[in-house]
Amino acid sequence: MTKPEFYQRQRDEMVERQIRGRGVKDERVIAAMQKIPRHMFVDKAFVDRAYDDGPLPLPERQTISQPYMVALMTQSLLLTGKEKVLEIGTGSGYQTAILSRLADRVFSIERHPRLGRQAERTLHDLGIHNALVRIGDGTHGWAEEAPFDAILVTAGAPKVPPAYLDQLKDDGRLVIPIGDDTQQMLYRFTKTKEAIFEEELVACRFVKLVGRYGWEAVK
Ligand code: SAH
Repeated sequence: MTKPEFYQRQRDEMVERQIRGRGVKDERVIAAMQKIPRHMFVDKAFVDRAYDDGPLPLPERQTISQPYMVALMTQSLLLTGKEKVLEIGTGSGYQTAILSRLADRVFSIERHPRLGRQAERTLHDLGIHNALVRIGDGTHGWAEEAPFDAILVTAGAPKVPPAYLDQLKDDGRLVIPIGDDTQQMLYRFTKTKEAIFEEELVACRFVKLVGRYGWEAVK
């Protein structure tokens, strides 16, 4: 078996057991996860565990999310392919790559330059050209590119930074983990002309969203 075949088999298994097996049904999300080489987004020391059922360490004490969590968050955004999406917390760029196959354009913000730059290189190496990475504090959103059809936050916040709801289109979706530093609830907020609807999706555990409207940085 060649290396690409070996990784493809691992991805097929990951999708069957962890993604379909746990009830994710969006076929476009499933196809994207079958296609994107997750092992290219993890540190060399962890390539053998790239398709394991859990998060993995990244530099700067951050983590690449568990495949199932990536699938669930992505499915919750209800993407059809036409959307402009904002992602907060680029990290490895894996979630960005998945989004790039499911939406028209992706704008992603990462506060650690080292992570953001590396993610940019990986996305470029994979020929992904509809995703833009910016370094900075993502708790302000990305005003110049707003409004967005969907916003995904992949770090845990103490409360919803106000910019996200402001920068969402009518009928837009915001998916974000909210809670304390040990445990959060993944929420989906849907903005309509009349109101904001709120749904609880699943209990989860993310690294902290650090910034002006998030947690304070630890010195
Ligand atoms: N989606 C990523 C998960 C990364 S973990 C992946 O698939 O690999 C969350 C990321 O959010 C970390 O890289 C962290 O540095 C970043 N982050 C935390 N607070 C942030 C902020 N205010 N703005 C931008 N990125 C932030």
